[in-house]
Amino acid sequence: DTPITVIGGGLAGTEAAWQIARRGIPVVLCEMKPERKSPAHHSDQMAELVCSNSLRGAGLNNAVGLLKEELRRLGSLFIACADKTAIPAGGALAVAREEFAAAVTEAVEHHPLIDVVRGEVRQLPRQGWTVVASGPLTSDALAEDIRRLTGERHLYFYDAIAPIVEAESIDLTIAWRASRHDRGGKDYINCPLDRDTYLKLVAELVAAEKVPTRDFEKAVHFEGCMPIEVLAERGEMTLAFGPFKPVGLPDPRTGREPFAVVQLRQDDRSGELYNMVGCQTKLTWPEQRRIFRMIPGLEQARFARLGSMHRNTFINAPRCLNRWLQLNEAPHLLFAGQITGVEGYVESAACGYLAGCFVSDLARDRQPLPPPPTTALGALLTHLQESDPADFQPMNVTYGLFPPLERKIRKRSEKRLALAERALRDLDAWAGRPPADS
Ligand code: FAD
Repeated sequence: DTPITVIGGGLAGTEAAWQIARRGIPVVLCEMKPERKSPAHHSDQMAELVCSNSLRGAGLNNAVGLLKEELRRLGSLFIACADKTAIPAGGALAVAREEFAAAVTEAVEHHPLIDVVRGEVRQLPRQGWTVVASGPLTSDALAEDIRRLTGERHLYFYDAIAPIVEAESIDLTIAWRASRHDRGGKDYINCPLDRDTYLKLVAELVAAEKVPTRDFEKAVHFEGCMPIEVLAERGEMTLAFGPFKPVGLPDPRTGREPFAVVQLRQDDRSGELYNMVGCQTKLTWPEQRRIFRMIPGLEQARFARLGSMHRNTFINAPRCLNRWLQLNEAPHLLFAGQITGVEGYVESAACGYLAGCFVSDLARDRQPLPPPPTTALGALLTHLQESDPADFQPMNVTYGLFPPLERKIRKRSEKRLALAERALRDLDAWAGRPPADS
């Protein structure tokens, strides 16, 4: 077999390389460290965890817990090394970060079919199967080359993430479903604000504790995507004339437009998740929970994701990638990891797993079989393929991305376990393994 190239020895790249090599195909894994390091990378090892050492929830009541279990069953290097270097962390899986990175680095460096080449890749190969896994802080030269292929409009350098709320936790005796000027469908949920509540919210947004901007993020420019607190600072009425404008949204209880309206837009196919329109923010997570719960209708809100704004290089996957993660414009290039628009360590490694499987099949002229959409791996692909390309933002795996169950289960914890059971059953069938309990 001709070697497959993998660019980037981070979480996605090492996993992709491992899966390719496991299938008997040689790999050239290119990693720019230690010659060059992004502003967030410090270690010389591969698979560096750049921030927290937590791989988040371990149980199946959490979609990321399910994703880890799926990876475990499928023989992922990432999860094997994480399990080996785990440290106590309550219901989460946390790792000793140096040991974890050392375990992954040693495994790939010692694999007879993986050739690790250190040094920056400045241009995408014009031919030969390649997995691009250069991460959210892809070097400038390579990012420029990616931009050339994807087109200017489809490569982003930051994410501006608004909180996502679980629909069930929104109080629909206060909020109501309607789109502005009653135009088509009821894809929005609207929360009414009277004058006092609005002014109090603005004051809290201005005074709230914010996450400091790191040096390497200062150059980012937010092209019309201002954090909500920055808009609030500009003037008391900026939000009421901007994202919180009430025009065309009469409250069905009074027949009148409220002073201001916070809109939430449906964010997933099943309608379980709603995105708070215009509420991208750098407030700290406790402040977001406290302040957004002041909004009428959101007093008991459960947040599937909180807001953030980061330097983050990613492509518009629903527009640029096919179902096997190949770039439409240059199908010999597959993308993997955070650069595709998945978010998080585990999701990045999982995407690397998928790209490793897909490229191995493609290199052998076989048609890859994507995982079922009912699995957490499949849900990640659903996000990359079926999100609205006009509003594509990175996303962690959540149960909201899964197709609904065939039968209705009311209790949240039971519903999640039923989704996890279905996922693992379908995963085992996909992977051609016997069910776990046989
Ligand atoms: P990376 O792990 O970054 O791997 C990319 C690799 O490619 C790097 O080793 C890099 O050196 C190399 N590379 C880049 N350009 C080139 C090139 N031109 N040639 C060769 N090699 C190259 N997620 C969480 O779950 N928890 C967190 O706490 C968290 N904190 C984050 C903090 C920051 C500052 C950032 C930017 C992201 C954070 N993330 C976090 C998000 C994400 O999960 C991680 O960035 C994750 O490491 C992404 O995995 P990856 O494999 O896609 O990229």
